[in-house]
Amino acid sequence: MAIEVTAAVLRGFRQPFVLETLRLEAPRDDEILVRMHSVGICHTDVKITHGYLPVPLPVVLGHEGAGVVEAVGGAVHGIGIGDPVVLSFSACGACPACRQSHPAYCDQAAALTFSCRRPSDGGTPLRAADGPVQGYFFGQSSFATHAITTAATVVRLPRDVPLWLPGVLGCGVQTGAGTVLNVLRPAAGESLAVFGSGTVGLSAVMAARLRGVAPLIAIDLLPQRLALARELGATHTVLAGPGTDVPGALRAATAGRGVHYSLDTTNDPVVVRQAFESLGPRGTYAHVGGGGKDLVFPGSHLLPGRTITGVVQGDSHPQTFIPQLLDWQRRGEFPFERLITRYPFTAINAAVADMEAGRCIKPVLVFDQTAMP
Ligand SMILES: [Zn+2]
Ligand SMILES: [Zn+2]
Repeated sequence: MAIEVTAAVLRGFRQPFVLETLRLEAPRDDEILVRMHSVGICHTDVKITHGYLPVPLPVVLGHEGAGVVEAVGGAVHGIGIGDPVVLSFSACGACPACRQSHPAYCDQAAALTFSCRRPSDGGTPLRAADGPVQGYFFGQSSFATHAITTAATVVRLPRDVPLWLPGVLGCGVQTGAGTVLNVLRPAAGESLAVFGSGTVGLSAVMAARLRGVAPLIAIDLLPQRLALARELGATHTVLAGPGTDVPGALRAATAGRGVHYSLDTTNDPVVVRQAFESLGPRGTYAHVGGGGKDLVFPGSHLLPGRTITGVVQGDSHPQTFIPQLLDWQRRGEFPFERLITRYPFTAINAAVADMEAGRCIKPVLVFDQTAMP
């Protein structure tokens, strides 16, 4: 049976989200209905509101949802009503990358993420009074009280996890942590420079601290973010900006050799070049920024065995990686809760404004007012 849901609808680029009552179809055989408890706001959502990524309108965005399963289709196995879940990204499960446990590089990734169409028939489960609204963004569209998704998109959680917490693992946190733990794989005593101290960068810092990385250098424009980076494990910080010789500061931190690994989260071509040029011989630079900006490097800098690699979603396998991150959080070893500021769902536009102004790092919208601090 279809239900009424409250969703934050984007009806035009560079316009605010509008809270609307929509009809959401019942889950089909291969689908799951999740009642959302919280959803993180990611820069990808915000970039789309500015028109930087083409998605069909009107649309419900949101791709860091956490909630409880309310209904399951007849063909779904392993997930039941009442299960707490995180919603992550969608993958087909059948292509070579999926079969090799690298679902972030699924052949169908672009369509499953940005087409905002149901994989089975290209339709949408959401409808407003004046016509269809696109859903299935990242396989979820979780800026809504309820979402239809697929079993492949959800990760089951322990029953005692507070559900304002884990949604952010579904994209931003696993991107930063996975880039370090799944791709760069630094050894204890190797060095890493992380450019940008937002959710992705600080998650990378926390993951690198777990591995004993040193020196572990965070670079950002905001002093308060660098202070937090230090608390989360950075051994050195560099306040970037006019007059700062960032490459010089990195050489000084590594006795002139350059870093073993670097990672840029800003997607600013000037910063990316600094991140690449900060590498020592045989070093690896990881590029996680979205968007189609041209990057320019001196080719000669590659020759001493240096590597550039692109990374999506930290090359994570969410079904195993998200429970691992949550376990470390519970032991106090990976305190990603410190990145989160909670807002009522109805304050979505204020939360986006605070994020863009640097007043918070990771806004999480909560649907249940009792989950507000
Ligand atoms: Zn696939
Ligand atoms: Zn995201």
